[in-house]
Amino acid sequence: MKDLRAPTDGKFKINRFDPNDTSAFDGKKEEAEQRLAGLRQELDGLQELFYADHRHALLMVLQGMDTAGKDGTIRHVFDGVNPQGVHVASFKVPTPAELDHDFLWRIHAKTPAKGHITIFNRSHYEDVLAVRVHNLVPQEEWEERFRAISEFERELVHEGTTILKFFLHIDKEEQKARLQARLDDPSKHWKFSEADLHERQYWPQYQVAYEDLISRTSSSWAPWYVIPSNHKWFRNWAVSKVLIDTLKGMKLEYPKSAVDLASVHIT
Ligand code: AMP
Ligand code: MG
Repeated sequence: MKDLRAPTDGKFKINRFDPNDTSAFDGKKEEAEQRLAGLRQELDGLQELFYADHRHALLMVLQGMDTAGKDGTIRHVFDGVNPQGVHVASFKVPTPAELDHDFLWRIHAKTPAKGHITIFNRSHYEDVLAVRVHNLVPQEEWEERFRAISEFERELVHEGTTILKFFLHIDKEEQKARLQARLDDPSKHWKFSEADLHERQYWPQYQVAYEDLISRTSSSWAPWYVIPSNHKWFRNWAVSKVLIDTLKGMKLEYPKSAVDLASVHIT
């Protein structure tokens, strides 16, 4: 999965990553879906082992333009996984109480405990993204946040959290098609928001902000993965594969019992 990783030399170029790419499967959707079904079963087992092992925490950050599929990814990747060890934290426009604190306050409160997987549906990256595009704070302030984010993530990693950051990469045409689908299908009307049409006008500014934030915050200890997401089936498989490869790389083990089990007799 190396080629889905953004470079860590500060020179990420968004145009070098193709949102349509399905080359790992040569475009074969059925094959990818079969593999995903296998990965889900594997994930269910690995999640239990991860919980039992209890030495690591795992944080998955999901970012992407509106309609990129953050919700769909969570639903498909974690389908069939025991919900007890998996948490989702969604970050919306900050409330007045949240705005009265530093920007990481609400974020830190939701980071995973040992043995747990937490998925951030949007994240602290909105604070250098939506905030930047809409000039919600002065440039000096959001620039300073890059330092804060980097130190925050380093500290989490130091204390035992593995961080995986996913940018679900779609193009503007695909967003148009997905917004149109929300208009055409009555069961998707609830998802349609005029705010999304408004945000769409800022597409170029968001692309610049994403390119810059991924350049500045992709590191070996908290890498960004750029997931080609025009094809949902490829997106789901790719996220699942990165997650499972990461869990396998942890060499998880069931802990030894503190009790001498051979001496236990149940009457
Ligand atoms: P959704 O995830 O579609 O429900 O939309 C949530 C909205 O909240 C998006 O438009 C985000 O850009 C916005 N949002 C999330 N976090 C922040 C933040 N820290 N500052 C400003 N806007 C934010
Ligand atoms: Mg939305």
